[in-house]
Order: sequence, then structure tokens, then C-alpha cells
Amino acid sequence: VKLVSVVTSDGQRIAVTTGDGIFLAEQLCAAQDLDKATWPHSIDEYVYGCRQFASGIEAIRNSLGSAAPFAQDEGKVRIGRLFQPRNVICVGLNYRDHALECGRPIPKQPILFAKWTGSVVGPGEPVILPPDTEEVDYEAELAVIIGRECRGVTESEALNYVAGYTCMNDVSARDFQRADGQWVRAKSQDTFGPMGPCLVTPDEIPEPQALDIRCLLNGTVVQNSNTREMIFGVRELIAYISRGITLLPGDVICTGTPSGIGQAQKPQRFLRPGDEVSVDIECVGRLTNYVRGKATG
Ligand code: ZN
Repeated sequence: VKLVSVVTSDGQRIAVTTGDGIFLAEQLCAAQDLDKATWPHSIDEYVYGCRQFASGIEAIRNSLGSAAPFAQDEGKVRIGRLFQPRNVICVGLNYRDHALECGRPIPKQPILFAKWTGSVVGPGEPVILPPDTEEVDYEAELAVIIGRECRGVTESEALNYVAGYTCMNDVSARDFQRADGQWVRAKSQDTFGPMGPCLVTPDEIPEPQALDIRCLLNGTVVQNSNTREMIFGVRELIAYISRGITLLPGDVICTGTPSGIGQAQKPQRFLRPGDEVSVDIECVGRLTNYVRGKATG
């Protein structure tokens, strides 16, 4: 299922989005007389207790159609932030064509870096250009949400630890990256972590290495690739990271971006106030955010 966090007058509610509309989990569960303890009341609860709620999610799936939709489509409601991640672990230069456009060698092992979780915002929230940078860039990425504690797993077991997938825009200040020699400040500015709009459970994506991934800037496709072009796939990344770092529920792995970043365009095209930037991933969804200029005064 595709889970979203819908903003209602009573706060955020976990809901399922389908071609037939948006269904509140609580309505589906009430229609089935489900015990309240067996289904998650927020996506945070689902992610942080993923296994515990497996049967609840199954019941929600089975009860689709037993209740009227809360809204006909996503345009009729406000979709809120998905959940608060524990860590955001990013992977640099993980698409062959992107490494080439950066003039860098193809990595022999994954290049990991951190994006602090304070940067995370939801769909429709602004990306605010911070002071002191003129080179804010977009990066469309498939994000993998961990739902079970995971240490030293093999590639063949790795996907058993995934709670779901979503879209991420790994917004990056290129001038900060160059100046600092490492990337935390460049990647962790406030609002530099748009994530969402939905969490797609793994049963809908049996093969994460076969998804079209695109970035659209003001409606124009600027990145256009497929997750099969990753140098290190999702299974390899989970196995590699978990060799010495315990992954826990709520950890998010951003799996890298394909070619077409603004820095590599000729002429270079960085984000400007008023831009609309979307990350669109097949079977996952489309995450759209707007760029706002730095606050004055
Ligand atoms: Zn990235």
C-alpha cells in the first residue's frame, strides 16, 4: 500500500492513497472492527514498529473498499510530512553517469555521508535558500526506509529490513561542498531534505533496481534515469552499511542521484526563488516543493 500522512482538522492521520481516493486508516479499521492496538495511528508508529503492525497493514489493505474515501484524490487534501527519520544516510556518486558528469572516478565502494534530520520537510513545503550560498542544487533520489534492526546482513536478506520506499530531494549547496571538503553543512541546511509524499510498502516494489527516476524543474525533465543504473543497489548498500553500523527503524538511506544536476548543466542552473522542483519515481510517487528566497529582516 501507499501510506500518506493527511493533515486534518484533528491533526495528522495515517491514510492509504489509491487510484480510488484517500482512505483514513481509522475508518478502514473501524469498518472491520479492528482492535486499535493492531494498526498504526501515524506513519512514525508504523516505521518505528514496522513488524508489529504487519498484520494491521494487511488488514487495512484487505478492507479497502469497505469505507468511503476521505477524499477523492490528493489534490483535495493536504499531505503532511511523512515521518521524522532517525538518521539520513546518503550515498555519493552512486550513478555511473552522475560520477562522470562530476568528473570523478566510479567509486569502488559506496561513499557514505550524513544529512542531518533537521533538514527534512514534507511535500509542498518550501525549500528556503539560506544565506551565503549561490549554488543550491537539486538531487532526485530513491529513499529506503529501514523498519527492522539490521546488523551484518547479507545482500539476499537485506530487503527484509525495509519498511518502505519514498522520494527524497537531496538538496545541496555546491559552493559549501567545495569549500568544506566534506558535505554535512552543504547537505543539512534547514529545508534541504524534502521527503515524501508517501511510504510505499515493499510488497509493491519487489525489485527496487527497476524504477524510472526523474527530476522536473518547472515542469522540464532535468534528470531522467532508472534505478538499475545505480553502482551499488539497495541490497548492496544495506549489506555494506550494516557490516559495522547497526541500522535501526527510522533510518533512511538516500541512494544517490543520477546525472542532470544543475551544477553540470551548461550553463549551470541553480535553484532560484519561485522554482518548482519535483522528484518523480515510478511506483513510488511524485514529491513537489517550491523554492523560496532567503528571508529578509
Ligand atoms: Zn545525493
